[in-house]
Amino acid sequence: MDAAKYIWMNGKFVAWDEAKVHVLSHTLHYGNGVIEGTKAYKTDRGYAIFRLNDHTKRLKESAKMTLIDIPYSVEEMNQAQIDLIKKNEFTGDNVYLRPFAFLGYGVMGIYHKDAPVETVMSAWEWGAYLGEEGMRKGIRLKIVSMTRPSNTSNMGKAKATANYLNSQMAKYEAIDCGYDEALLLDDQGYVAEASGASFFMIVNGEIITPPSDNALVSITQKTVIEMAENMGMKVTRRRISREEVYIADEAFLTGTAAEITPIALIDARDIGSGSRGPITEKIQSGYFDIVFGRNKDYEHYLTYID
Ligand code: PMP
Repeated sequence: MDAAKYIWMNGKFVAWDEAKVHVLSHTLHYGNGVIEGTKAYKTDRGYAIFRLNDHTKRLKESAKMTLIDIPYSVEEMNQAQIDLIKKNEFTGDNVYLRPFAFLGYGVMGIYHKDAPVETVMSAWEWGAYLGEEGMRKGIRLKIVSMTRPSNTSNMGKAKATANYLNSQMAKYEAIDCGYDEALLLDDQGYVAEASGASFFMIVNGEIITPPSDNALVSITQKTVIEMAENMGMKVTRRRISREEVYIADEAFLTGTAAEITPIALIDARDIGSGSRGPITEKIQSGYFDIVFGRNKDYEHYLTYID
């Protein structure tokens, strides 16, 4: 990864290499921490963070779900991220922000109420998550053997570090089998989401994406739905079965890091023409217009760093 200069840790900036934790930190052992993934883009007016407040609010909400009491308000954490972008003097087109709250050192055993809460904001320059070529030509997806844990056995709506064990195993399996990314079904066999992104397909011009029943409540998915509807497209949220996925005209993934990544193939079946489809391309360029501040209708989603 590309190191930056500073990390914000519990209210103070520390040098990148000094942002350390004890090996007996509670989260390292028992996996209860919450993260965000937020992105800043270099617009004509300098960096702007996309949907900053929505991401920070989701961090606070994830923490509430997993019983972590973050001692900072959403406003304070928003400001920390703005200051972080300024202080690091980035130059690239894309900066990824990683807000993180975890349980630190001092308490062992599963009961975590007395473990100290640490709050950290990091940012670094990060290119296309699923590769530049993938953005143009589409990626190859495998429906993996892991399913997303059922709603009765985990806190799937929290962006919790523990949930990424499932994502990691899924992603590893997909790559090990020669694919680029994993698509996970839920415990009923319907499409849930990818290892770190939401799924969309296009059938006869209609855009279809699953509800968030067994997936993260995604901010990019909401943005894409809003944008596609404003472009006059029909968008439906409903359960999707595996067979439907194989015969879709187009498909793509969305996420803060994944942005809009076309899908070329799923489980040895070409999707449509086997490359980026025309509607996907329209959505992709529309999304980049929004995040880079080129579409004034969505200015309210941008927090400019002056
Ligand atoms: N699902 C999972 C499991 C994710 O990790 C992400 C990335 N945060 C998403 C979906 C997409 O969410 P968002 O659009 O809010 O980044």
